Amino acid sequence: MMLNVSDPMIDILEKARTGGEISRDEIAFMYNEVDIKKLGYAARILTDKITGRQVSFVSNMILNYTNICNVRCNFCAFYRTGNEEDSYTMTAEQVVERLRQFHSAYGIRQLLIQGGVNPDLPLEYYTDLFRKIKREFPEIGINGLSTSEISFIARKEKTSLRDVLESLRESGLETIPGAGAEIFSADVRKVLGRPVNSGEQWLNVMETAHSMGIKTSATMMFGHVENAYHRADHLLSILELQKKYHGFLSFTPWNFEPGNTKLERDGLVNRRVGGEEVLRNIAISRIVFNRELPIIQSSWLTNGVEMGQMSIYFGANDWGGTIYDEKVIPATGKMVGNLRKETIIRALKGIGMVPVERDNAYKIIKTYV
Ligand code: SF4
Repeated sequence: MMLNVSDPMIDILEKARTGGEISRDEIAFMYNEVDIKKLGYAARILTDKITGRQVSFVSNMILNYTNICNVRCNFCAFYRTGNEEDSYTMTAEQVVERLRQFHSAYGIRQLLIQGGVNPDLPLEYYTDLFRKIKREFPEIGINGLSTSEISFIARKEKTSLRDVLESLRESGLETIPGAGAEIFSADVRKVLGRPVNSGEQWLNVMETAHSMGIKTSATMMFGHVENAYHRADHLLSILELQKKYHGFLSFTPWNFEPGNTKLERDGLVNRRVGGEEVLRNIAISRIVFNRELPIIQSSWLTNGVEMGQMSIYFGANDWGGTIYDEKVIPATGKMVGNLRKETIIRALKGIGMVPVERDNAYKIIKTYV
C-alpha cells in the first residue's frame, strides 16, 4: 500500500490499530477521497488480525410471515396495506410447515423471521409462533423481528419494550436482526418515508435488548439520498452503543435496491450504486469498528457471489447465510437466488479462505479445510 508521511490515512489507521477514535471528518474523508484499493488493503490486514483466513457462514432461511404493514416506507416494494389480493399473514402452523420443508432439505440453523408492521397481530401471535418453532426445532436459533415490529407490539399491548422483549425471549427469541436501521439521520428518514424518530427508536430497542443480554445485529442501508456525513454519523452511533454493552454480533452495510419503490417513482433515486461503493462501505466499516465489532458481513444477496468474494478481500469476515425463501428483495424486481452451502464453501475456498459454518449466535459448528 502506498502511503506517504503526510497521508491522513496514516493517522486513521493508527487509530484503528490502537483503538483510538476515528472522527466524523475522517470517516467522511475515507468516503469522499481515499483510493478504494488503499482502503481495501488496510481493511483486510485488520480483518486478518481478528479472524485470519476464516470466513463464517450460516445455513439459514428468511421467513417473511406477513407483508401487511402500516409504516409504508418509500423505499419498500414489499409491503401491502391489507386490501390487496396478494396481502398475506401466515399462521404458526404454516410457518412451521414451511420451516419443516427447508430444514429437512438443508439443515437450517438460523431462522430470520420478520415482516411488515401488521396492526392486527398481538404479542400472543409471536410468542405462540416462537414456542411452536422451538418445540419442533430446538437447534434453530430464532433471529426475529425488526425494531419497528417490536416497538409496535409494545405500543399495541400498552406495555414496556423490556416486557415485550422478555416475553419474546421466554418463548424462544434468541437474537434480533439489524433491519430498519437504514440511516439514522431524521432528515434522511423523512425522505425515506420513515417516522423521523425511528432512528432513535432503533437505537433504543437495541440498547434495551443489549442491557438485558439479548444480542442483536446492526446494519446500514446506503446508496439513496444520504451523504458521507450521514453515513459517518450512523457508524459512530452504532460504535457508541457497542462500547456500552458489546451487544452487536455483526454489522452489515447493504446497498439500496430502488426497483418498484416510491423513491424510484418520484425520481429521487434512479439507479443502484455500483460495486465500488459496496466495497468502500465494507472496508470503511471494518476500519471504523475493527475489534469493537469484529464481524463484518458481506451482502451477497443483492450483489452476487463474485461481489461476496470481493467483499471478503475488502475486510468482511462473514458471508451471511444461504438465505432460503426471502421475499423482500424479489419485490423490487431484483432476481436473487438461494445458495447451497456447497456453493459458499467453494466460493470461499476459491479465494484462499477457510470456510467455517456457524450457528445463529456465531458459534462455529464446523470447519471446512
Ligand atoms: S420496510 Fe418494513 S416497515 Fe417499511 S414498509 Fe416495508 S415492511 Fe413496512
